Amino acid sequence: MRTIDSDVVIVGAGPCGLMTARELRRAGHSVTVLEARDRVGGRTHTDIIDGAMLEVGGQWVSPDQTALIALLDELGLGTYSRYRDGESLYIGSTGEATRYTGDMFPALPETQSEIERLIGILDDLAGRMNPAAPWEHPQARELDTISFHHWLRQQSTDEEACNNIGLFIAGGMLTKPAHAFSALQAVLMAASAGSFSHLVDEDFILDKRVIGGMQSVSQRMAADLGDSVVLNSPVRTLRHSLNDDGATRVEAITDDVTVNARYAVVAVPPNLYSRISYEPALPRRQHQMHQHQSLGLVIKVHAVYATPFWRDHGLNGTGFSAGSIVQEVYDNTNHDDPRGTLVGFISDEKADAMFDLEPATRRQRILESIAEFFGPAALDPEVYYESDWASEEWTRGAYAASYDLGGLHRYARHQLTPVGPIYWASSDLAAEGYQHVDGAIRMGQLTAGRIAEALSSQTVGTHA
Ligand SMILES: Cc1cc2nc3c(=O)[nH]c(=O)nc-3n(C[C@H](O)[C@H](O)[C@H](O)COP(=O)(O)OP(=O)(O)OC[C@H]3O[C@@H](n4cnc5c(N)ncnc54)[C@H](O)[C@@H]3O)c2cc1C
Repeated sequence: MRTIDSDVVIVGAGPCGLMTARELRRAGHSVTVLEARDRVGGRTHTDIIDGAMLEVGGQWVSPDQTALIALLDELGLGTYSRYRDGESLYIGSTGEATRYTGDMFPALPETQSEIERLIGILDDLAGRMNPAAPWEHPQARELDTISFHHWLRQQSTDEEACNNIGLFIAGGMLTKPAHAFSALQAVLMAASAGSFSHLVDEDFILDKRVIGGMQSVSQRMAADLGDSVVLNSPVRTLRHSLNDDGATRVEAITDDVTVNARYAVVAVPPNLYSRISYEPALPRRQHQMHQHQSLGLVIKVHAVYATPFWRDHGLNGTGFSAGSIVQEVYDNTNHDDPRGTLVGFISDEKADAMFDLEPATRRQRILESIAEFFGPAALDPEVYYESDWASEEWTRGAYAASYDLGGLHRYARHQLTPVGPIYWASSDLAAEGYQHVDGAIRMGQLTAGRIAEALSSQTVGTHA
């Protein structure tokens, strides 16, 4: 068993863990990052599949994600815009694909005005929420004890309007059915992105991608950290104590390495906290809270064609249909790539149904759903790939974690409370940039700051 001494041990080399390490190193502290997988990047992963470069996990950057944008600049990584010239497609209650421009779906005028009214209500609720303290919202308990599905139906009798609003948060963001999370959780999703209007504006929320892929953010940070990042090392146990002199100690134990540190940061999604044994055991509240945080489920499907054929028909590759298997689809053609790539998303119960099928049938059904937007040319891609994050031991879902009904106002105020020397950080716990890479970076900065402060006060205390 190899032993390493560091000021801080970080569990997880996703963007959050690596940013925490980067900031602590910058502040003059020694760090070791232990990563379970044989690669860094966590839920960001750029892979070559049958000759096509695909971003299997997180990829888009929006203009409000200023922590990530500043880091991209610092790392020398460029960005490019999602293709958006031409018309979008909408499949509504008629089942026909209709072309449109702008951000409003071409639904019946009364449905359009209901959608606008609901967006206004959600913008207003989000405007009164501090995303760092959603439990302080004046209607926190009321909104957290009703499902988003039922809350929407309290606001409107227009089913198409409710389904479309539901699409943006349920299928599109939390990737759980709208009956499985609260209206407060939906308002947090909006508040963390600045407003609900931002979430419904794909030109805002899905603005840019990173040249070379989002995983390169983690790869560059890991390269700067050098030998301090140890791969293939799942942390099995965190043993922590308080010495007589008031100094904290924590041992992070993997199969081959033990890191002795003064502080630990668990930079993994909350659904994985219980994969680690804590000695002594975590307090009651943490045991309870962690059981109310779970990941959603989404299949991100890539289909790569010889050319972006939809562009020749004046289409930008964007399509929405709350009732279809593939609820959202976008042009995901890589920077400087002559081939054309579409990316589609299949969420929650629809993903369950697709995973029940044999792979060949699933592929056929998914491509048929994409062809409802773009015609039969979509049926025969050169490369086809379905992400399956839920089968990955060190993630177990996608995109990120949210509380079940009532959990947000009951527990979230405690989610960043350290247990002795153990701190918690990931995009799943972020205020701004919640569930996004930007939130992971912000949590890294916040946590590094808190630990640097604790280290300096401990040093003062020890010398006094
Ligand atoms: C399909 C998909 C699409 C997405 N799209 C976007 C998008 O377009 N834009 C966006 O901003 N975000 C997107 N996201 C979300 C984004 O990828 C995540 O929010 C971000 O990666 C979270 O970073 P993190 O460091 O907090 O956690 P993670 O990225 O999950 O990193 C955690 C790390 O901890 C490791 N780990 C777990 N347990 C242990 C253990 N016991 N010991 C050691 N290591 C451990 C894991 O292997 C992993 O590397 C997407 C995610 C998915 C899955």
